[in-house]
Amino acid sequence: MSYSPYFNPELETMPRKELEALQLERLKSTVKRCLNTKFYQDKFAELGITADDIQTLDDVKKLPFTTKDDLRANYPFGLSTVPMNECVRLHSSSGTTGNPTVVLHTQKDLDEWANAVARCLWMVGSRPEDVFQNSAGYGMFTAGLGFQYGAEKVGMLTVPAAAGNTKRQIKFIKDFGTTVVHAIPSYASRIYEVMKEEGVDPARDTKLRVLCIGAEPHSEEQRKRIEHDLHVKAYNSYGISEMMGPGVAFECQEQNGLHIWEDYFIVEIIDPQTLEPVPDGQIGELVLTTINREGMPLLRYRTRDLTAIMSGECACGRTHRRIQRLQGRSDDMIILKGVNIFPIQIEKILLKFKELSSDYLITLDTDNGGDFMTVDVEISQLFTDDYSRLTQLTKEITRQLKDEILVTPKVRLVPKGSLKASDEGKAVRVKDLRKKF
Ligand code: ADP
Ligand code: ZN
Repeated sequence: MSYSPYFNPELETMPRKELEALQLERLKSTVKRCLNTKFYQDKFAELGITADDIQTLDDVKKLPFTTKDDLRANYPFGLSTVPMNECVRLHSSSGTTGNPTVVLHTQKDLDEWANAVARCLWMVGSRPEDVFQNSAGYGMFTAGLGFQYGAEKVGMLTVPAAAGNTKRQIKFIKDFGTTVVHAIPSYASRIYEVMKEEGVDPARDTKLRVLCIGAEPHSEEQRKRIEHDLHVKAYNSYGISEMMGPGVAFECQEQNGLHIWEDYFIVEIIDPQTLEPVPDGQIGELVLTTINREGMPLLRYRTRDLTAIMSGECACGRTHRRIQRLQGRSDDMIILKGVNIFPIQIEKILLKFKELSSDYLITLDTDNGGDFMTVDVEISQLFTDDYSRLTQLTKEITRQLKDEILVTPKVRLVPKGSLKASDEGKAVRVKDLRKKF
């Protein structure tokens, strides 16, 4: 059967002018809706603005920012703009960085969320003939139900396998002929490790074709390794609970940046210090305004995620702009001896070495000489225990890391399985034990 390359051709390829007109109309009604809450009433009063100040898309810059702390201060229902009897679902973020935050959805919000995820899944080539397996936790974590409803909307047969129990996960993949999987990147690597242990060859024994990987930062090198190991095409999926969850931005088959759905969001990239916009192509903090949400719309939400807007049109024909692969959160940045370092820079180097597995842990600590960094990384099962080769390998990794991050870490090769990324939840990559003076 031949299908359109788009799930929703009209919206996905809408000419920019029309898309921007739609954005403005939705922005205006969102602003009015937000003024149902005391929180935004007070913010507008502080800034001396009213809903009438929003006449062009550029006027979004006049609006107040919203932060995670604002959500916490208004926990749980303070930012809802509809009566509670119109809300049908509550989600909370996974709380990786502190207290959870709550997001409320009406039925329309859930339908629109499912449409956004369906668009993404269709974009990477999923069709009703596919079998979709989701290895994300079902429950408060938005990637469970978020992907579930989106995949059903595409019309795929869905396998809500949920998190953990990797052997069973692999059995499902084989028995049900799963073709499309969603997994967080650290768990995708885990699936491959267990397949190896079980003697399962993904190319020979499964029908896997497409993998959606997201929810945590990962490098291009990690994507390539996962694609090679699992014999799939892997696509980057960006989601954040405060915006809904998965479906916010996703790579298309060009694998060159993530389209962000601009009929749902107004996208800004700002300098996190000055809060001023940065030019396209320059890395800054992603700020999103929801313009297609009823239950709990948010104005200029500071995601703390670092990325850049990519300029130029995409060959896939979608008119929604793209953002670069996410670098990590502004608060993931390590400052060591005055140098700014992102864990993803370290991962990029480690994964160049075939001898290493993809599990690693960065520890920051203090001794008499001051602060220092240790990088523990697992060696892959198939590798040698020849001492001089290991020493040489350690030296080479250290040298390449120093070139990338400008400080010299202590590198330790540890046996396979000793860092054991958990079966569930996001991988912990950094431990900070430094003494703060
Ligand atoms: P928490 O903030 O508690 O982790 P969420 O489940 O809402 O809760 O996680 C959203 C965050 O996960 C994003 O703000 C971002 O930091 C990270 N994230 C999600 N998708 C990606 C991705 N594709 N690449 C990098 N980071 C991602
Ligand atoms: Zn594209």
